[in-house]
Parts: sequence; C-alpha cells; structure tokens
Amino acid sequence: MQCMWCDSNQAEEAKMTGYWELPDGSRAIEIKEIPSVTCPDCGMEYQEETLVEEIEDQMMLIDTKPLPNSLTFKELMDVPRFLKRNYFKL
Ligand SMILES: [Zn+2]
Repeated sequence: MQCMWCDSNQAEEAKMTGYWELPDGSRAIEIKEIPSVTCPDCGMEYQEETLVEEIEDQMMLIDTKPLPNSLTFKELMDVPRFLKRNYFKL
C-alpha cells in the first residue's frame, strides 16, 4: 500500500499499540492492535485518518468510565454505544 507521507509503495499494514486520552480527559488508555501503516522508506508509523475518527467517535458514544486501562482495538469497537447517533457531529 502507499505511504501517505512519502508516496512509497512499500508501506505495509501493521498492528500498533497506542495511548488514547479519553474525551473527558480523566485518563489515557492503552489500545492494542490498532490497524496501522508502517513505511520502511521514511520510517513513519501512523493510523489512517478515517480510523482515528472511528476511534474518536466510538469514545464519544460509549461509557468510557468502566473501560480497562488496556484493551485491544477490537474490544474497544465492540463496546455497545449508548447513543443512537453521533450528536457531536453536525
Ligand atoms: Zn513513507
């Protein structure tokens, strides 16, 4: 796949661990196995914009208080949403 930083075609999918601050700012949680892209040419490791938005939307729509300090991306996305739609976006 193509690297969004240097346009190299050598970029590969990877799973990364990241730290995410909760929307209320109370703490940061560790998210494991986040679908990511790594590029051997420029050394960038990043998440695509749409995925970052997905995580941020999910954080807004679930009750983050009972979340453990560490979970996988899939576990996070599987948490049931308590709002029917995203009221934070127009
Ligand atoms: Zn690159």
